[in-house]
Amino acid sequence: MPDTRSPATLALHAGEAPRQAGAPVTPPPQLATSFFTHPAAVGFSANDLAADAPHFYARWSNPTAESLEQRLAALEGGEAAVSFASGMAAVSALFLDRLAAGDHLVLSDVCYAGVAELAQDILPRHGITATPVDTADPAAVGAAMRPNTRLVHVETPANPILKLTDIAAVAAIAHAGGAELSVDSTIATPLGTRPLALGADYVVHSLTKYIGGHGDALGGAVIGRSERMAGLRRQGLIHLGGALAPFNAWLILRGLETLAPRMALHEANARKLEAFLAGHPKVRSVLWPGSPRHPQHALAQRQMRNFSGLLAFSVRGGGAALAARLAERLQVISYAVSLGKTKSLLFHIPTDDLLRASFRVEGAQAAAYRDWAGEGVFRFSVGLEEADDLIADLGQALG
Ligand SMILES: *Cc1c(COP(=O)(O)O)cnc(C)c1O
Repeated sequence: MPDTRSPATLALHAGEAPRQAGAPVTPPPQLATSFFTHPAAVGFSANDLAADAPHFYARWSNPTAESLEQRLAALEGGEAAVSFASGMAAVSALFLDRLAAGDHLVLSDVCYAGVAELAQDILPRHGITATPVDTADPAAVGAAMRPNTRLVHVETPANPILKLTDIAAVAAIAHAGGAELSVDSTIATPLGTRPLALGADYVVHSLTKYIGGHGDALGGAVIGRSERMAGLRRQGLIHLGGALAPFNAWLILRGLETLAPRMALHEANARKLEAFLAGHPKVRSVLWPGSPRHPQHALAQRQMRNFSGLLAFSVRGGGAALAARLAERLQVISYAVSLGKTKSLLFHIPTDDLLRASFRVEGAQAAAYRDWAGEGVFRFSVGLEEADDLIADLGQALG
């Protein structure tokens, strides 16, 4: 039965243990690595694992990770979830579970750098080919499909230039070609977009970002149909081993409790910072899906109920020098990588470096990236500080 309560309530209560007098309202993290069992109850091999088997060994499942998985599945409107030690552990497990030698992957040409490098460097060593395409253009996805394409992987909004993909359109193309669609929805969060309802087969999250929200725990998750998630647990956790530590699962559950109010404030602050940057004489362009200035704002309005707190801006020349100046002068905003935490983070990503080391696209695709990003983008994860303090900080540092 799908849980139809609103997201703010699900973020607090989905997957709660049965209420009994004397039981803790906030359960402690369960740190045990093994659980009492009986020889008749469980087979020793992962291949014998029943979906409803009791907890046995913490890499296979544990109660704290299970609570988190149930809450994430409810928030995404999915049947089941599997949690991982990081977002990359989630993506790599999904790719290795769904793809085999001879298979083909189509993925966003702009996506998390680690995913782009995994697709270019590791998958080909196992006989899996990958084609990066501009998934903002559904026709380009259609043109990239081959008879052996098994998976289409998109990131929307995409890190770092917040390019969007029309999930429903790309899901239809993937399915018509006999492939599945996975959507990295880390930046949108379940408060913004529910990819499964739009036709995706899998939703992937880096829980390290908005869902954990406090910048103190790495984690990842995949949400999808129960039968597929059972297979992913077997391959991704039991055999590849990237299980989420119970203490991190507990921290992420705690962060998740405030996801709805945090996302509302991230969005409100991003709206003010986008307007400030758009009017700043040193700024060439600023990208945030919630702004009518974003080239895909109409799609954002269709597909996102919350526009999240990540924006990207480029400046009129001298990005690297300005980055050094910001690293020295910012007092409230931290010059640091990552995104989606309570505190504001800002980091400069030079276009040449990203195209050479990570995306490795050429010709029209490289030109399209340059059109959005110029020489480089400042990725700005707008935090929960008072917006006026962020504007003042950025204003004094930009000069
Ligand atoms: C950070 C991030 C990842 C990787 O997650 P980790 O938890 O750092 O491994 C994947 N996708 C997106 C969009 C990200 O921002």
